Amino acid sequence: MPEGTPELSAKDLRTLIPEYEGLALATTLLNPEPGEPGVRESSLGGPLLWPADEPWPYCAQEDHWTFGSDLRNTTEIVAGTVPTVPILQLFARDVPGLEFPEGKDLLQVVWCALNHEHDPGPVMPLLYWRNEAEVVAGGLLSEIPVAGEGEYDEDHMPEPSTLSPTPTDDYPSRHDLPEDVRDTWEPRFRSPTSGGVMWPSDSNVIATKAGGWPAWIQPADWPDCDGGHRMEHLLTITGDIQLGDCGGVYFFHCRRCPGLPWDWRFDCH
Ligand SMILES: [Zn+2]
Ligand SMILES: [Zn+2]
Repeated sequence: MPEGTPELSAKDLRTLIPEYEGLALATTLLNPEPGEPGVRESSLGGPLLWPADEPWPYCAQEDHWTFGSDLRNTTEIVAGTVPTVPILQLFARDVPGLEFPEGKDLLQVVWCALNHEHDPGPVMPLLYWRNEAEVVAGGLLSEIPVAGEGEYDEDHMPEPSTLSPTPTDDYPSRHDLPEDVRDTWEPRFRSPTSGGVMWPSDSNVIATKAGGWPAWIQPADWPDCDGGHRMEHLLTITGDIQLGDCGGVYFFHCRRCPGLPWDWRFDCH
């Protein structure tokens, strides 16, 4: 956007473009704050409620690496030896706006906190839906392996944080405007003074959130499931966590297919 082009606030947008208002989706902002979350609490980077009979996941990538103390040298790490790290844990009671699969009330995400040759950024995230009461009844894994020195990149390790989930409305970023809206947008919102186009700026919430629209900073890249359905946005992790050069990590799933297939995307600054 050329300098001097005024930005449209969400309120302006709702007034000016009724069809934009129609694109509102409910989201829950997770608002992480550094703290000491417990294993029965929703958290970012906190301890996960993990079943005793399920081995902790390790990253299976062969080519992941981390920067050593000398940034010109990198250290290669043997595949299968690096534990993933806890990223997110959400209990249904804390995010009533997020629909959980039947019988499930706990969502967990882990990922490998190293860098990966072909996909720079945090890769190999894994996502789990669980039932809290079942996990508790079966007992918790007593020893959760912790990534040791050299087994993670600090940028990919969130500081343990408690969450204060807050529901709000979310709007698409310019990357997700439907074609018909986009086509009429430019002529309507070309600034008479600078010639630049005014795009929505503060209406897509760039934060770690459940539901709503992805907080893409690059062109949208929605995954399809194997059944050919465009997946729904499930989670965005961004903003309030350092991700190196990574803009955000976005999770999607398809609720039309059995087994609730899911996928993820990331983008870069
Ligand atoms: Zn890895
Ligand atoms: Zn599907």
